Amino acid sequence: MSKDYYNTLGINKEASQEEIKKAFRKKAHEHHPDKGNGNADKFKEVNEAYQVLGKPEKRRQYDQFGTTFEGMGGQAAYDAGFDWADMFRQGGPSSGYRTSGFNINFDDLGDIFGDFFGGSRTSGRSSRGVDMEASLTIGFEEAVFGIEKVLDISKQIVCDKCRGNGAEPNTKIINCKTCGGSGQVTTTQQTFFGAFRSNSVCQNCGGEGKVSEKKCTQCHGSGVTQGQERIKVKIPAGISNNETIKLSGKGEAGVSGLPAGDLYIHITVPPHHQFSREGDNIFTAKNISFSQAALGAKVRVKTLDGEVNLKIPSGTQSGRQFILKNKGSHKLRGRGRGDMIVEVKIQVPGNLSQKQKKLLEELADEGL
Ligand SMILES: [Zn+2]
Ligand SMILES: [Zn+2]
Repeated sequence: MSKDYYNTLGINKEASQEEIKKAFRKKAHEHHPDKGNGNADKFKEVNEAYQVLGKPEKRRQYDQFGTTFEGMGGQAAYDAGFDWADMFRQGGPSSGYRTSGFNINFDDLGDIFGDFFGGSRTSGRSSRGVDMEASLTIGFEEAVFGIEKVLDISKQIVCDKCRGNGAEPNTKIINCKTCGGSGQVTTTQQTFFGAFRSNSVCQNCGGEGKVSEKKCTQCHGSGVTQGQERIKVKIPAGISNNETIKLSGKGEAGVSGLPAGDLYIHITVPPHHQFSREGDNIFTAKNISFSQAALGAKVRVKTLDGEVNLKIPSGTQSGRQFILKNKGSHKLRGRGRGDMIVEVKIQVPGNLSQKQKKLLEELADEGL
């Protein structure tokens, strides 16, 4: 008996192409082998049904000839240990995999893999370790001048016993039996669409062509173990709140000696009680008295480099800004430093002594 593709997808013979696509997605999700309760056989059947019903012309053939495909049909081919899921991974979600007979529609499958792998995975065998993120809070001055910090990061690290190659030390390295040392596996399948050949990376040796006679007893051949790494982070002078530093190759170690992922460190700089920052410039306020503003004065102003003198000219209004050149933040990109901007605020005295009051009354009489 031939297979009933309509039944496989749970639709009737009048279903529209859109309904077929929908049914395929639903079923493929349901049976996807990467899911805990997935079913590889059913997944294959669903794909096979969709390869026919999903394409109007093939669907017409199938509708017309129905059972005549028996014996030539896909069952034998798909049962011969062919792993659809593997093949899709090799091809990648949207790459379109051309074969001698037909073209598998990866655009449809792309959505499915997107869902399963959070949209970021493009191949089943990851080519490097996982990226990691960490947060680090530093002081205002540390951000301005730069600093070196030490972080202890728990992550997947290279196995120290086998140094990442997954082989038990002092055991022989032999040619992979699965691929005969080529690192590639070629699968040829006869389907009623024609011969079907696919090349894929050998899963046994990961494409290396060589395997160890005995797997590393510490990492069981993966080349990685769970551990900690002490990482020195050089924080550049001039970094700002909410900026991120990328440390290439400091993420999780890759399996089987593959490169590590990256480590992203998010920097937080809490506000300072006296200074604020805008780009490379630092702002501060300085209180002066009415007489200093009126007569002019020399005052001391705190900067990140210690106190400096600031000359207040006579007749200075409240809110006037003075620029202290090169007393700002170091520039993150480029050389030199920004400026410090000092805004003066004239304080109106509150509690006056008898003498002060008398003098101010005299000033008032003079029109001040
Ligand atoms: Zn190991
Ligand atoms: Zn191999």
